[in-house]
Amino acid sequence: MKVTVLVGGVGGARFLLGVKAALGLPAVGSVSEPRIDAVGAGASDHEVTAVVNVGDDIWMHGLRICPDMDTCLYTLGGGIDPERGWGRAGETWAVRDELAAYEADPTWFGLGDRDLATHLVRTRMLRAGYPLSDVTAALCHRWRPGVTLLPATDDRVETHVIIDDPETGPKARKAIHFQEWWVRHKAEPLAHSFASVGAEQATVLPAARDAITGADAVLIAPSNPVVSIGSLLEIPGMRDALRETKARVVGLSPIVGGRPLRGMADACLTAIGVDTTAEAVGRHFGGRADGGLLDGWLVHTGDSADVPGVEVLSLPLLMTDVDATAEMARRALDLAGAAVG
Ligand code: GDP
Ligand code: CA
Repeated sequence: MKVTVLVGGVGGARFLLGVKAALGLPAVGSVSEPRIDAVGAGASDHEVTAVVNVGDDIWMHGLRICPDMDTCLYTLGGGIDPERGWGRAGETWAVRDELAAYEADPTWFGLGDRDLATHLVRTRMLRAGYPLSDVTAALCHRWRPGVTLLPATDDRVETHVIIDDPETGPKARKAIHFQEWWVRHKAEPLAHSFASVGAEQATVLPAARDAITGADAVLIAPSNPVVSIGSLLEIPGMRDALRETKARVVGLSPIVGGRPLRGMADACLTAIGVDTTAEAVGRHFGGRADGGLLDGWLVHTGDSADVPGVEVLSLPLLMTDVDATAEMARRALDLAGAAVG
């Protein structure tokens, strides 16, 4: 069975751990795992492909940073810092502190010493002319995520946030990179809208398009519906692939009891005029019959959602551990008509 999952960072990566477990794919990233192929796909009849958001990607200190992809790599490869949910376990911060001593901008983004090695390797390969998807495959050679991780596009498409210009107040607006709004300003300046800079010139990665159109089931992870899933959908060709696929498309709500579980998705939803409820997000994605995304929508126990043309189920959606997450994935695959027993 071929399962393709649309993902952002922390929520997406954790969900992928559950998808792997549901399909009986081996946990990878452990040194004891036998090497089977370059990306660590196990001896299973099932194949998982993750199409990963690139909207958070940014150049800093001359390095290309891909936050969502790195969260997926480290989580699935066993290198993540479990408390923070992002970055490397056992991280140290000597370079960050040295950069701060030089007052080298930006000082608000914490690049750890271990993490920096990833960005150095990535940037060197990009500068040598390799596309981001090839670079990602090379990084997977080390991390062995056990799923195929694909950037949604090889092109540069970065999410920007339109806010009031702090210099002039509501009189004028300005666009800042999503990372600056999210990390530096903690999503506090009121966002008016989001823009995917570069989207007009971009195309969906052909392998990502094929993974969607050729899938037996397509899942939409409980990732941020605006700046993870929404940014993925802005890439030309992505919506077409989702429309074309014969697979059923099932999403899982990241909004539980009217709130995001971590992060500030509510600030993003408010900006685009969508209520922070599982129903409103389901309706925002919409049913496929109406030109939307979904055949099925999973909401958390106690939440309800009426989404025209979409089959809605409510069940526990808390990714407290891999078993609970695997059960979510199993139920999502069931609803997609791709039961794994
Ligand atoms: P980011 O790119 O690191 O922000 O991560 P994602 O966009 O992939 O995921 C962030 C979203 O995951 C947030 O909006 C959370 O509400 C959601 N999330 C985190 N943990 C859980 C969970 O246990 N269950 C559900 N349903 N959603 C979760
Ligand atoms: Ca992200």
